[in-house]
Amino acid sequence: MTRLVDLEPVDVLEAQVTVGAGVTLEKLQAHARAAGLDFGVDLAARSAATVGGLVATNAGGIRVLRYGSMRHQVTGLSAVLADGTVVSRLTGLAKDNTGYDLTQLLAGSEGTLGIVTRVRLRLVPQLPGRAVALIGLAGTEDALAVLARARRLPSLAAAEVCYAEGVALVRSYASLGAPFAQSFPVYLLLECAAGTDPTDELLELLGECDELGDATVASDVAGRTRLWAYREAHTEAISAAGVPVKLDVSVPLGALPGLVAELPPTVEKVAPGARTILFGHLNEGNLHVNVLDTGTAGTEVTDAVLNLVAAHRGSISSEHGVGRAKARWLELSRSPAEIATMRRIKAALDPNGLLNPGVLLAAGE
Ligand SMILES: Cc1cc2nc3c(=O)[nH]c(=O)nc-3n(C[C@H](O)[C@H](O)[C@H](O)COP(=O)(O)OP(=O)(O)OC[C@H]3O[C@@H](n4cnc5c(N)ncnc54)[C@H](O)[C@@H]3O)c2cc1C
Repeated sequence: MTRLVDLEPVDVLEAQVTVGAGVTLEKLQAHARAAGLDFGVDLAARSAATVGGLVATNAGGIRVLRYGSMRHQVTGLSAVLADGTVVSRLTGLAKDNTGYDLTQLLAGSEGTLGIVTRVRLRLVPQLPGRAVALIGLAGTEDALAVLARARRLPSLAAAEVCYAEGVALVRSYASLGAPFAQSFPVYLLLECAAGTDPTDELLELLGECDELGDATVASDVAGRTRLWAYREAHTEAISAAGVPVKLDVSVPLGALPGLVAELPPTVEKVAPGARTILFGHLNEGNLHVNVLDTGTAGTEVTDAVLNLVAAHRGSISSEHGVGRAKARWLELSRSPAEIATMRRIKAALDPNGLLNPGVLLAAGE
């Protein structure tokens, strides 16, 4: 009998592993690392997030820049459909053009098409050499200019952005010192990872960037962890400050500076006095928009922000999924024809609407 928390031995030749859907991301990472490999997705919820949940939400996180989101790691899976049918494709073949890709259909389906029970995952090389730079900048345009140059580094592994308000909140929550002698409107965190120490190429890159207000680089574990804390402690620091309206959006990179500038006044109009905290994954134009002190205007804030994002040709859910909370705004990101097609797929696989009713596709329409 196999269990949902089983970890099969790592297949080093294929650089793949098959695990139960209940295995946490942290356990999967430790299992891969013990075999000299690594897993391509990482995010702050690693100790609680399960492989099944990560697949169902097509989770992203801090390494999408290098390895893609969760669906790009999945080479096969087993799932139970609403009528009890078990569909299973766990061979992990690198090439397999034999019809509809049911694995990818289930990835990102938010539990609406089947229950994922087992997953075959691609693994990546372990990269022990790491260097992190925290950079202070005058604006989002400057962060994008540095990113465009940083993308030339084969070792670039992460590019995260955060802003002065969020960093101030993190500093008081986590009792962290100031990263620089002066405060900056924007902070860009770059991480490089390679088989050997990438510090020199990161320093060389920083030397070429006229936009830098200030920068600090760390390659030892303690120093890297300290720099990451300014970015990674955002979620906890925000939750400690109140119950935020949490939105997770993305726009084309060219539209990002405009969105960042327009978000606070857009929120202010519907929720005067609310605090808008932004941070996210710069390379994917993905901003986590957290709004504190909205009072009773939570729905108005969500509506205003998601409409602004749609006006910038963006996505109302970049990596957290649509769930029930955002189902009514799906038409801002997907066309009527796309939504009708999704409903036909749902009706074919789950005609009685047993699986996660109301999630992704709003009920009763
Ligand atoms: C601190 C924090 C940081 C985070 N950072 C990121 C981030 O950077 N990037 C990102 O993308 N996400 C992030 N998340 C969200 C995270 O990806 C999801 O919370 C997590 O991956 C979901 O896994 P879970 O096991 O908790 O699933 P749950 O929250 O339990 O479920 C999520 C959805 O998946 C469905 N589901 C769960 N298991 C299965 C299954 N076996 N089969 C079918 N459907 C299933 C559920 O029905 C539900 O609709 C973060 C969350 C937290 C708390």
